[in-house]
Amino acid sequence: MGSSMSGQEFFQAGERVGVLTTQPLDRLLDYRAPEGGCFLGAYVEVPLGPRKVLGVVWGPGAGDFDSAKLRAVIRVLDVAPMRTEMRQFLGKAADYTLTPMPAMLRLATRAPGLSDPPSMRKILRRGDGVPDRMTDARSRVLGVLEDYGGLAFTPRELADMADVTPSVVKGLVKQGTLREEEAPRDTPYPHLDPELPSKQLTEDQAKAAQALAEGVHSGCYGTTLLKGVTGSGKTEVYLEAVAAALRAGRQALVLLPEIALTAEFLTRVEARFGAKPAEWHSGATMTERRRVWKMVGQGAAQLVIGARSSLFLPFRDLGLIIVDEEHDTSYKQEDGVLYSARDMAVLRAAMCSAQVVLASATPSLETWANAEAGKYKRLNLTSRFGASVLPDMRAVDMRSEDLLPSTWISPTLKQAMKLRMERGEQSLLFLNRRGFAPVTICRACGAQVACDHCDARMVEHRFMKRLMCHQCGETKPVPEACPSCEVEGKMAPVGPGIERLAEEAAALFPEARIAVLSSDLFGSARALKQRIEEIAAGEADIILGTQLVAKGHNFPLLTLVGVIDADLGLQGSDLRAAERTFQLMRQVAGRAGRAERPGEALMQTFQPEHPVIRAILSGDEENFWKAEAAERQAAGVPPYGRMAGIILSGPDLAAVFDLGNAMARNDGPLRRIGAQLFGPAPAPIARVRGRHRVRLLVKAPKGVPLQEALARWTAPLRLKGDLRLSIDIDPQSFF
Ligand code: ADP
Ligand code: ZN
Repeated sequence: MGSSMSGQEFFQAGERVGVLTTQPLDRLLDYRAPEGGCFLGAYVEVPLGPRKVLGVVWGPGAGDFDSAKLRAVIRVLDVAPMRTEMRQFLGKAADYTLTPMPAMLRLATRAPGLSDPPSMRKILRRGDGVPDRMTDARSRVLGVLEDYGGLAFTPRELADMADVTPSVVKGLVKQGTLREEEAPRDTPYPHLDPELPSKQLTEDQAKAAQALAEGVHSGCYGTTLLKGVTGSGKTEVYLEAVAAALRAGRQALVLLPEIALTAEFLTRVEARFGAKPAEWHSGATMTERRRVWKMVGQGAAQLVIGARSSLFLPFRDLGLIIVDEEHDTSYKQEDGVLYSARDMAVLRAAMCSAQVVLASATPSLETWANAEAGKYKRLNLTSRFGASVLPDMRAVDMRSEDLLPSTWISPTLKQAMKLRMERGEQSLLFLNRRGFAPVTICRACGAQVACDHCDARMVEHRFMKRLMCHQCGETKPVPEACPSCEVEGKMAPVGPGIERLAEEAAALFPEARIAVLSSDLFGSARALKQRIEEIAAGEADIILGTQLVAKGHNFPLLTLVGVIDADLGLQGSDLRAAERTFQLMRQVAGRAGRAERPGEALMQTFQPEHPVIRAILSGDEENFWKAEAAERQAAGVPPYGRMAGIILSGPDLAAVFDLGNAMARNDGPLRRIGAQLFGPAPAPIARVRGRHRVRLLVKAPKGVPLQEALARWTAPLRLKGDLRLSIDIDPQSFF
């Protein structure tokens, strides 16, 4: 191994290197370093059989492969080599989640066209030619170039910015006043300026911002819980931590739940730093994604706002990670590599000496407990900014409300909505059930329409005039005749879904403009965002939403939140059901009265004395967490114990159970660390897409090497045929 340039080891041409590929192999492959050599961490293209595959130079070759047969790396890609800390991060993340390294590498290379040769585009610069005459349009074009001195534009961009037709620009090129050049298509992001004025922070906010900035200045790892109700200024505060990172010349990443990635948020960032940051999410175009990936690696994107997978971007010098709404369940990836973005953020930060800020109004019990234990610092923003105050929260006791059959809006709630209509304010009704009706039943025989492939009932979606399975997405028309008894005209919807609630609201308030926010009603994230912006601008009187609306949108005119069925979240068998209900309700309640207007939150419930409902209404959060923590501690479950879920699936139920039983008989490696094994049992959703699912649950004391034991336990298994096994460390959902 030769000398080093950028501190990375270098392999001379012909030297043996070990390459990790994205192909499902359980080891590195040996190759010869290409002509010109390559750095450790270089992204390369290597031959594998007849194919070319993507890989990363992971170390020196193992040397056990016949050197005569050794093939050479085809070429080194034109991107910055993977940094040592990133390789360490991927390795640790793989160990923690029990994920094979190639799958980790796939996560880290999720940018289209990485192996394409650098593509070029035509740009224009000022040339020496003097134009024959100076028109107004021409001088506007030259003015734009002057205003943006160093920047170069494509002919199209230039024409747009100067507000002239493309022919004006062409004319100037002909005269030599503009010069054409070839430039790489992926360009650096505009510079962000931390010195632009921030908002005048309140004393509380300034203290918190100061503490976070000190963390960033330390240049060390550290995690801080930033807790404050919605509207208390958490975003303002963490943007100051971002400013501190930018001043220190380091990069920052703000993770948001996918749906909270709104134009509103980007505009706020732009207002603070003078330019738009890089964005990374599923709605971004291929070109945008490739640009982000490449620029992050060169340090030419100072700030990324992204969804959970942005944690795997190749940052050159990441100094700060913000996880906003850290309790949000969408941070847990539920298929493919099963990871929690919040936990991986902490791991990644530890590897690159960065600070993590976990922001939430209702932190997860895990984070709350880590703060209690002193592992995380904790900052509290106690008051809401400005005149806005916490909404007045009350239970509506449904046992004493007078409701017609098949209606769900109580007279009390209706009265409160009427008041908003009169005042020109907005009401929001929350019901966490998509579709029109959760059940379609035959009034002749009582049969319910179920999915043909899954163990789930079909949900009627009236806007598409079909029944849909929320497990597998299968749809079918609402049957005229009952599939069981064949009697016609007796199929009826039972229970409320968000679409049905919208009908009820429209009947109560025929003059109201009603907006329904449910993920399945929007063709794209973009369309949804646009709708949210329209609502924020006042283009709706009544908003109906599923859990989408619990995220951080700011609706200034919203002063009433009605939770249609507060009991819905309390019935689950899930370990985190109470916590979820608590968080959701606090978040939804926090939606009301964010701006100057005081809000009101009404929760319709049949059990107003339930401890969770009482804790929410009383506003005594610490008590809720303490009680919940005590229960979990007594039960030895997370965060006071460890869990892992094993899901086995296959088309043949007996074969899946045989595998589960065999695993349960051979649980020596688990018993040796004092872990308990439960199951096999049918998973809560026992069939998905025609595959039977069986679950085993491992419960272990804290502090034992759980992953090692799981690896030893599952390593000898040979999965026959179509059987699949997946391991979920720290399972969030129990499906
Ligand atoms: P959170 O992230 O806790 O929900 P935000 O940071 O979004 O709170 O603040 C809520 C609203 O109050 C935003 O519109 C924000 O711009 C405004 N705000 C918060 N703090 C200040 C401040 N110190 N000066 C001016 N506006 C503020
Ligand atoms: Zn189905």
